Amino acid sequence: MTEGRRRCTGAPGHRWGTDSLAKLRAGRAALLGGLIGVSGALAAVLANDIVCLAMTPVLIEGCIRRRLNPLPCLLGLACAANVAPARPPGVSIDRGSTRERRAGDDPDPSRRGGVVVGMDGLWAYDGTLTCYTHRMGTRAYAVTSDSSPFGAHSITRREPTATDVAIEILYCGVCHSDLHIARNEWGMTQYPCVPGHEILGRVANVGSDVTKFKVGDIAAVGCLVDSCRTCSSCEQGMEQFCLNGPTMTYNSEDRHLGGLTYGGYSEAVVVDEAFTLKVPDNLDPAGASPLLCAGITTYSPLRKWNVGHGQKVGIVGLGGLGHMGVKFAAAFGAHTVLFTTSPSKVEDGKRLGANEVIISNDEQQMNQHAGSFDFILDTVSADHDINAYMAMLKLDGTLVLVGAPPNPLQLSAFSMLFPRKHLSGSLIGGLPETQEMLDYCGRHNIVCDIERIKMQQIDEAYERMLRSDVKYRFVIDMASLKE
Ligand code: NAP
Ligand code: ZN
Ligand code: ZN
Repeated sequence: MTEGRRRCTGAPGHRWGTDSLAKLRAGRAALLGGLIGVSGALAAVLANDIVCLAMTPVLIEGCIRRRLNPLPCLLGLACAANVAPARPPGVSIDRGSTRERRAGDDPDPSRRGGVVVGMDGLWAYDGTLTCYTHRMGTRAYAVTSDSSPFGAHSITRREPTATDVAIEILYCGVCHSDLHIARNEWGMTQYPCVPGHEILGRVANVGSDVTKFKVGDIAAVGCLVDSCRTCSSCEQGMEQFCLNGPTMTYNSEDRHLGGLTYGGYSEAVVVDEAFTLKVPDNLDPAGASPLLCAGITTYSPLRKWNVGHGQKVGIVGLGGLGHMGVKFAAAFGAHTVLFTTSPSKVEDGKRLGANEVIISNDEQQMNQHAGSFDFILDTVSADHDINAYMAMLKLDGTLVLVGAPPNPLQLSAFSMLFPRKHLSGSLIGGLPETQEMLDYCGRHNIVCDIERIKMQQIDEAYERMLRSDVKYRFVIDMASLKE
């Protein structure tokens, strides 16, 4: 993370620089005598500074509560706010955090108007420190509209709370959902949008109550960063179905800072440890990162419907999700059949574990398998004829949709009626099941087949994804973000 705030230098142009403050302190009588004039000047400074204005009432209230004179605090605030190099939108104000003074803080806060400019924001000093802003500038890649290309962007991450883990992101997988959302294909995108929910990185900082990780460990984050934690879904470990609305890793309302959550196309993320995951040491970190979405999204329904030995199981589409579906179905012992529109993927399908591969737009091949499947997992991202796959199911067979094409599917009633068939859906997985999946992958040495890309290649990667030209997951090497 980059430091979001510099010390006051007293350089020309800073109306309340160190020199100014020294003069003010030296001439306290003059300051008091000219209180009305100073207040006028201060008001002008504050009027120039929206951050100051937003924080002033909070700071005054904090000072009154602590029986401090608010004026020095306001002077310090004005000084600090006026040297901020860049002001990200939505500066947060958190009155709950306290911490000890650290190296890097202003050396003598009592002589700095009661305000400490630290690495992590602006703190009021009254023996302890109470935080008034959190400003962690973080490099990211974002889109600003449904048709804009990706570009460098700065976002704000919060200072870790007691239960938070700050993660320096090493790798982030590229999911087709990132594309759907970046281009507003599901009609729910808010901009700027920083996608990415297959996050793997190194722990850079932990809150005082964190038990799962220490600095330097590998940690992962998937599609969820928070939920209510109290509803029946959350209590059952299905946070993705939180009845009060889960907080998704990006394009959700941020429960801490307000505004939006921003995803893994960035250099760092701060997440409550309850929403972090441990990655088995034996797994290649880059190959493991897409397990956080592609892995769990296919593992979960295959487990829920008890896919295994003695069953004929179809996986539709050999992309990011599909190739993990093939790997898991084969690992669970099912007779695994890949349906693909790409003849070039037949060999890969078999290498990944499929017993048979069907070219889905070859009617003859499809007819040979009609009515023979126990279970089919449909991972297709675009318009396709679902009736053709329902026709593959046998009595009481089930087709589960995980693919999420933007347009409604057209389903013939007769696809369901004869002989009795089931159609269902599934959404990622909760935290306990995601950890279970990672541990399973650790024991069976399963990772994703990936192609590493640089952050700067993301637009091209999206175009290739649309052409079904992914083998079989793009993973962004986040070191490239610094280039
Ligand atoms: P992907 O890597 O682009 O793979 C999609 C695959 O679908 C393609 O490789 C292609 O495989 C097949 N396909 C594409 N267009 C097709 C068409 N018109 N007709 C038939 N097949 C077609 O995408 P992904 O990341 O795996 O994601 C797939 C879908 O799942 C997306 O809609 C995504 O949003 C959704 N998703 C859902 C969840 C969830 O929780 N439910 C989680 C993650 C993603 P072939 O070349 O083999 O035909
Ligand atoms: Zn995803
Ligand atoms: Zn809940």
